Amino acid sequence: MKKIAQILAALVGVVVLVAGVRTCTVSSQQIEVEPLPPAEVDAGAAGKRLGDAIRYRTISHFDRSQLDRGAFLAFHRFLQRSYPAAHRALDRERVDDLTLLYIWPGRDPSLTPVALLAHQDVVPVPPETSERWTQPAFEGVIDGGFVWGRGAMDDKGNVMAILEATERLAAGGFRPARTVYLAFGHDEEVGGTGATAVAALLAERGIELDFVLDEGLAVIEGLIPGLAQPVAMIGVVEKGYLSLRLVVEQPGGHSSTPPRQTAVGILASAITRLERAPLPARLEGVPREFLTTLAPETPLRLRLVLSNLWLFEGILKRFLAGTPGTNAVIRTTTAPTMLSGSPKDNVLPNRAEGVVNFRILPGDTIASVTEYVRAAIADDRVTLEPIGHPREPSRVSSTDSESFRLVQRSIGRVFPEAVVTPNLVLGGTDARHYGEVARDVYRFSPYRFGPGDLARAHGIDERIGLEDHADAIRFYELLLQSLD
Ligand SMILES: [Zn+2]
Repeated sequence: MKKIAQILAALVGVVVLVAGVRTCTVSSQQIEVEPLPPAEVDAGAAGKRLGDAIRYRTISHFDRSQLDRGAFLAFHRFLQRSYPAAHRALDRERVDDLTLLYIWPGRDPSLTPVALLAHQDVVPVPPETSERWTQPAFEGVIDGGFVWGRGAMDDKGNVMAILEATERLAAGGFRPARTVYLAFGHDEEVGGTGATAVAALLAERGIELDFVLDEGLAVIEGLIPGLAQPVAMIGVVEKGYLSLRLVVEQPGGHSSTPPRQTAVGILASAITRLERAPLPARLEGVPREFLTTLAPETPLRLRLVLSNLWLFEGILKRFLAGTPGTNAVIRTTTAPTMLSGSPKDNVLPNRAEGVVNFRILPGDTIASVTEYVRAAIADDRVTLEPIGHPREPSRVSSTDSESFRLVQRSIGRVFPEAVVTPNLVLGGTDARHYGEVARDVYRFSPYRFGPGDLARAHGIDERIGLEDHADAIRFYELLLQSLD
């Protein structure tokens, strides 16, 4: 007994020692850059132009007949008026009717071009929420140091910041070292046919892009409890998307003489089984790299955990699974969203249908998730069919490339206090359509957001700080200047 206790104590000692050494020796992967002396961006004037941009109701609708084409065309004319030097220096074409593609020819044709993306369209403001806004959603009011309105964050801020930077540089006679494409989609919120068309056009012209930079992640304050610095996350991979329709067909009839289980009951138990068997959690790939990159910058207790994932992975996974936001980072998520059965209360359903939406973690595939679902339901009476446009997780972009370092350096100079890390993007962006024409696809908006701010995009009281918008302009200006 005594011997076993001694061996156990020795083992614990070794584990503590290894964990301690690792905690103290993990080295920072942040790069040293000179913070930028604040460029003299006129934050008030730029904010005013962003406010004006918000007044154009470039709203996306799933029912495309509701699209207000005139609002987009007026928005295009507004951009031309607002940025005359940029419109002299860059060629502009309309693709897929309303998407804008600008081309800024570079000084050195031997260098591979790059593309900056953003989207013109915004999500609607449901009439029942418009009363709850502090400022009207489509007036672009400037108040309390913020520009208020739908699209300020998602994504007119980026459209305007990119053009502000371009205008400033073009007015001074600057030309980028490599050719720069600016692509502003018109339907990102409803699928991105504009982005698909631009990517196809570039491919048709034989153009390969070094990298694409689009919205996605940002500079987030208060992301990790105990971490004082904001975290600037560059999205290097996007989850995949799959909606499966579950169908049960059974003889109908009168509900006065029902069988033991109706089509609705069979479907309901299939969905219950699915919810009880979430796809397995995995802490690997980019989310793992996110945590290990963060580790050296965190306070001691957290660093102990993050730099010893060999020891704490199980506990950490259980912790991350506890909240929906972090659970989505470590597994393919399961979300039953739609249901239908009999059209009448006293009629047995011939057919019951449900739809379950899955967001696929890199490493899983459409086929592997479908197989998993089939096995979890384990009932031949339930058939599965994919609906809509399923897509596999995106390719993982390099965190080791010159272009990643360029983005990282530009972040470091404008947001010197931020820790820069790669991460996984949970939603979809226009950038996903560029996988075939770009070596690397990065998803990062150069804006600072507090934890409560994220719900404002697509929600109530969307707004951008005037100084934050000025920083975004500085970021793009610096990036464009550093492309050689
Ligand atoms: Zn967006």
